[in-house]
Amino acid sequence: MKDQYNREINYLRVSITDRCNLRCIYCMPEEGIKQILSHQEILTYEEILRVINIAVTLGTSKVRITGGEPLVRKGVVGFIEKLAKIDGINDIGITTNGVLLKSYAKDLFEAGLKRLNISLDSLDEKKFSMITRFGHLKDVLEGIEKANEIGFTPIKINVVVMRGINDNEIEKFAQWSKEVPYQIRFIEFMPLGGLKLWSKELFVSSDEIKSRIQTTVGNLISVQVKKSGPAEYFMLQGAKGLLGFISPMTTHMCARCNRLRLTADGKLRACLFSDKEIDLKKHLRAASSDKEIRKILIKTIHSKPQAMSKYIKPLRPMSTIGG
Ligand code: SAM
Ligand code: SF4
Repeated sequence: MKDQYNREINYLRVSITDRCNLRCIYCMPEEGIKQILSHQEILTYEEILRVINIAVTLGTSKVRITGGEPLVRKGVVGFIEKLAKIDGINDIGITTNGVLLKSYAKDLFEAGLKRLNISLDSLDEKKFSMITRFGHLKDVLEGIEKANEIGFTPIKINVVVMRGINDNEIEKFAQWSKEVPYQIRFIEFMPLGGLKLWSKELFVSSDEIKSRIQTTVGNLISVQVKKSGPAEYFMLQGAKGLLGFISPMTTHMCARCNRLRLTADGKLRACLFSDKEIDLKKHLRAASSDKEIRKILIKTIHSKPQAMSKYIKPLRPMSTIGG
């Protein structure tokens, strides 16, 4: 279905939990989020699947499961299995911190998941533990390797670049792309998350990252990638993998935005940067018909703003929206 600015809205991002087994410094406070959602407050898998089935009738063909950390929610494999069986959904992905990937990769693959996005902001054990507050790099690297062996493709590695924190690893990540068949994507740090970490000083633009790679690692050759979403891709000569750049702060991505978001507590969000939400859970639990739920989805699609006027920090934590 098209929105009022002629954008085809075919992508639903679903946060299945606000809980997480890490506490990344840019996403969650050390003690975790204050008002963690209770089991009753989060949508059941059945409710989520119902929404997706209805969204398919409006043209949704792509679903991404996120969180919090999606792999900490019980029953996630069974849920993916049901999701993969929905006619009309031809692209299912998950965004994970990778900590539990080693244990889940095989089951997830067999359930029908083929595309993986893994957040990994440092290749240095100490730095990784500092950024995630208590994660172990080894767990994530082993999870990624296992996923690769099993056959997941593509494997996308998302790196949020922060000056003075991990920007000294830009070159290391670029070198890594020569050895591994992954899409390593540098993401511009956004003022999100309700935390006070973001500042201009920490921000590093994609142009600066590219220029640093070109100067110190090698020439970036432009590559066209199917289903590239908001990323722009390049490769280094002879590399096994690709380097991607996601530039929400320095390019205008709104004109190409094709997504709706469903939060863990059942709110539909038409834009990451607008706190306008529609309480879908209320309708799902009031025994509304599929036709009524469909109408709410249509209304949300129509409410998508043409572009964000300025960056506002969402009122709720990123872990409940899903990034
Ligand atoms: N826990 C999972 C993970 O970390 O991959 C999924 C949820 S996490 C909120 C989704 C994505 O949002 C992660 O890749 C994370 O790096 C990204 N993210 C969170 N806060 C961000 C920010 N301020 N700027 C850019 N990306 C951010
Ligand atoms: Fe957890 Fe992902 Fe947020 Fe890190 S970015 S605290 S892994 S939800």
